[in-house]
Amino acid sequence: MEEKCTTTNFIRNIVIEDLEIGKHQEIITRFPPEPNGYLHIGHAKSIVLNFELADEFKGKTNLRFDDTNPVKEDTEYVESIKEDVKWLGFEWDSLLFASDYFDEMYSRAVLLIKKGKAFVCDMTPEEIRESRGTLKEPGKESPYRNRTVEENLDLFERMRKGEFKDGEKVLRAKIDMTSPNINMRDPIIYRIAHATHHNTGDKWCIYPMYDYAHPIEDAIEGVTHSICTLEFEDHRPLYDWVVYECEMDDKPRQIEFARLNLTNTVMSKRFLKSLVDQGITDGWDDPRMPTIAGLRRRGYTPEAIRNFCREIGVSKANSLVDAQMLEHFIREDLHAKAPRTMGVIRPLRVVITNYPEGQVEMLVIENNPDDSTAGTRQVPFSREIYIEQDDFMEEPPKKYFRLFPGNEVRLKGAYFVKCNDFIKDENGNVVELHCTYDSETKSGSGFTGRKVKGTIHWVDAKHSIPAEFRLYDNLIIENEEGEDKSFLERINPNSMEILQGFVEETMKQAKPQDKFQLFRHGYFNVDTKYTTEEKLVFNRIVSLKSSFKLNKK
Ligand code: ATP
Ligand code: MG
Repeated sequence: MEEKCTTTNFIRNIVIEDLEIGKHQEIITRFPPEPNGYLHIGHAKSIVLNFELADEFKGKTNLRFDDTNPVKEDTEYVESIKEDVKWLGFEWDSLLFASDYFDEMYSRAVLLIKKGKAFVCDMTPEEIRESRGTLKEPGKESPYRNRTVEENLDLFERMRKGEFKDGEKVLRAKIDMTSPNINMRDPIIYRIAHATHHNTGDKWCIYPMYDYAHPIEDAIEGVTHSICTLEFEDHRPLYDWVVYECEMDDKPRQIEFARLNLTNTVMSKRFLKSLVDQGITDGWDDPRMPTIAGLRRRGYTPEAIRNFCREIGVSKANSLVDAQMLEHFIREDLHAKAPRTMGVIRPLRVVITNYPEGQVEMLVIENNPDDSTAGTRQVPFSREIYIEQDDFMEEPPKKYFRLFPGNEVRLKGAYFVKCNDFIKDENGNVVELHCTYDSETKSGSGFTGRKVKGTIHWVDAKHSIPAEFRLYDNLIIENEEGEDKSFLERINPNSMEILQGFVEETMKQAKPQDKFQLFRHGYFNVDTKYTTEEKLVFNRIVSLKSSFKLNKK
């Protein structure tokens, strides 16, 4: 069930006011990822916010790649980001690249130099960092700060031509080394990097810094509301300075909101990349990754992710969201959509000794008891079946209502069966049960003779198909109170368990990305990477139950 954004937030209120007072006729937002990794669920929050805000007020949203750092960026990431935004259900108005504006950014930098607002500095990056001062102490002016305009123009031109090595010179804005805001202390706006860019190739060997490039990108595109995360709040005076001093026609407004942090995961492309590079996960789309690609492969739906992003809301206060909240939304979505079926994850063979040998009957079972339009399916039943190993105990504790010697249970959609005997292997493991069934107790027959306390699932031994089940746990273990371990020290060594079992024969038709509710086990997705003609591989998306409760406002 998808709800559209009905709750308001402070950014939406700003937009409403700007439209009311006629500051803008139309709003333009943008989603501006750097193509240095795959998108994660935190990006989804920004995507939903930007696209839905513009959509609500009939404005526009651009997808703009902030590709100003050639060393880390790659077209693989560009493609994956486009795919993920589309999959989440959003259509951008224009597809843009910051690198398309390198000429304009260069000429605006020349303008700054001509106005005496920028200078070429020969200090090393370390020297510049050291001379910036602290919150308490002002910075020191660069000895190169008073170069003449002519000298600066000449040096900047020669930087562009490739006459200097990486790090030898930078272009700095000339603002105020005593500003209480360290970002305003003559920040670097261009640096030298002899690197091939994924879009502009070897045309440039100088690249603009984020704080200089971003406001220009926004202004060129006529972005009205430039929404970013809270870390950039202190950069806003510089953003406004660049827009003003570069004499941009449009004056975009930067607005900051709190980023999404989730428990039991890491939410930064840099960290996620190191998990991939070190082989800790099976690529960016590993079903344990909080990436959009990982969530998709795990079996999340765009609806569930969008609903989650709406529910967490938009505010100025940083917080940590419980990962169980995300699970809540996929359960809610799949409860309505996913066909019900049976699968046995840890199989135990059961022989129904009084069932005629060679006989097979077709039982009619509902596809979704909560949805009468979902129809029924025919499930074969015969003398040998599989049940779950933990649905039998030789010596049951109190309140164990499943199978044990002498006890009777219902086989879901079939009959009552009673356990009479069992066989153990040489290691003492129970490997086979011998049961009898009662033909009077067929499901749907209206039998009321006696009751059983347990219902267990099963699959027919001859008519089921082998399947692999991949069960997941959190990738990262949270720090205990007082602990301060880095995320690499907190990797859960048991975040995946692979099991071999069986599913109903009807699942033969299943294709990658088909989603099911396996009775008593949870929601599963057919894996896109490991499923073959011979074997279905299922990722468990979530188990059925959780103690998590959503606080409805
Ligand atoms: P990362 O550290 O993961 O690379 P980033 O902020 O550097 O994150 P960008 O590609 O620059 O990633 O981000 C694109 C947009 O997504 C930005 O507007 C950024 O503010 C937003 N964004 C990134 N992470 C989050 C998050 N956790 N919650 C909300 N928005 C986010
Ligand atoms: Mg970044």
